[in-house]
Amino acid sequence: MSYKRSSELFQEAKKYIPGGVNSPVRAFNSVGGTPIFMKSAAGAYLMDEDNNKYIDYINSWGPQILGHAFQPVVDAVIERTKLGTSFGTPTEIETEIAQLIVSMVPGIDQIRMVNSGTEACMSAIRLARGFTGKDKIIKFSGCYHGHSDSFLIAAGSGAVTFGAPNSPGVTQGTAKDTLLANFNDIAHVSQIIAEHEGEIAAIIIEPVAGNMGCIPPMEGFLKALREVTAKHGILLIFDEVMTGFRLAPGGAQELFGITADIVCFGKIIGGGLPVGAFAARNEIMNHLAPLGAVYQAGTLSGNPLAMSAGLAMLTALNNDTEVYDRINNKTAYLHQKLEKVLRESGHDFTINRKGSMISLHFCEDEVLDFESAKAGDNPKFKAFFHGMLERGIYLAPSAYETWFICDALSYEDLDQTVKMVKETLDSI
Ligand SMILES: *Cc1c(COP(=O)(O)O)cnc(C)c1O
Repeated sequence: MSYKRSSELFQEAKKYIPGGVNSPVRAFNSVGGTPIFMKSAAGAYLMDEDNNKYIDYINSWGPQILGHAFQPVVDAVIERTKLGTSFGTPTEIETEIAQLIVSMVPGIDQIRMVNSGTEACMSAIRLARGFTGKDKIIKFSGCYHGHSDSFLIAAGSGAVTFGAPNSPGVTQGTAKDTLLANFNDIAHVSQIIAEHEGEIAAIIIEPVAGNMGCIPPMEGFLKALREVTAKHGILLIFDEVMTGFRLAPGGAQELFGITADIVCFGKIIGGGLPVGAFAARNEIMNHLAPLGAVYQAGTLSGNPLAMSAGLAMLTALNNDTEVYDRINNKTAYLHQKLEKVLRESGHDFTINRKGSMISLHFCEDEVLDFESAKAGDNPKFKAFFHGMLERGIYLAPSAYETWFICDALSYEDLDQTVKMVKETLDSI
């Protein structure tokens, strides 16, 4: 494959955009090489600027669950655009989408729209702090909740649970209010709560972790988390930016039968346009401005174009009762075939899967938390990534990402992918 035009575009981009990209993981830093510039996409396929075609396992990092350029979303956005793109006033479509989401998602009465998953999580913890009158939050090592200061906290070693900022610019003052727990380790959570009795506003978690590869919660973990938070007056925040509308119409809450206090959304909720949201029952949402004192705002929040895309996407998901079975079955099929070729190849591997989220770690032991995820063989992943790319399979350019299966992928695409996995594994 030739990547000539992508390389030229990247050289040009680097002059005007830091690192040539508007979000770091796109830069291929962790796998090496030059990022591929995409020109267009349809269904399960991406087309790059050199006219190379790829089977896509990123799906814009999740939103394109029904495939790229999904017709109802495209049509909705085009029609809406003709009416004007933004007014800075309330519009009817905001209530329409809010009503639909409240009907799909368990345990919520009201929802506030924002423009990204980062904003959703940032606002959710402000609301939790305002509601409880407490300052500290617990997050889990390896979980990603966007790039706001409170969440950019590296894992402390051993018993050290006070976070240290993992980006310059995050102050110690902010970092000290973020406590770190190990994913899937309820004893660790209980210990942190005991050490900070009465100080903790909320625990935030990706109910199925998707930002250290895919790591499902162990049996009983989320239930135990629900119980311990309820017992101590701590709010439980489910960051469903990735899992929302993917694992079920009502997300992980529905799948696991557990109701969180605040739920965050992003990705699928905007159908490929920039949307995030956070939601809760009235008792909590009443604290938000203009009803309550917790301030939160946005010039383009609830933007009619973005709402029209989101509404078309969520309507399609809500009306097609079989879509989740279809994508889950495709993912299970891929899992089974991958397992076979990987076993035959002799490489150490672990595959984790939940619903239409699946990931491959090049390590022998179970991957249950950030520590075990880090045990993966990164040089091998790099070689694997590039081998797959050359063979027309577009995976996320990092060993810590989940692959997303979309409804547009055919079983032929999956077979082709597995064939390329085999070729790639034989070559590395
Ligand atoms: C992607 C993601 C975010 C951040 O969303 P952005 O729209 O990129 O700001 C937050 N939480 C989780 C779980 C995510 O996967």
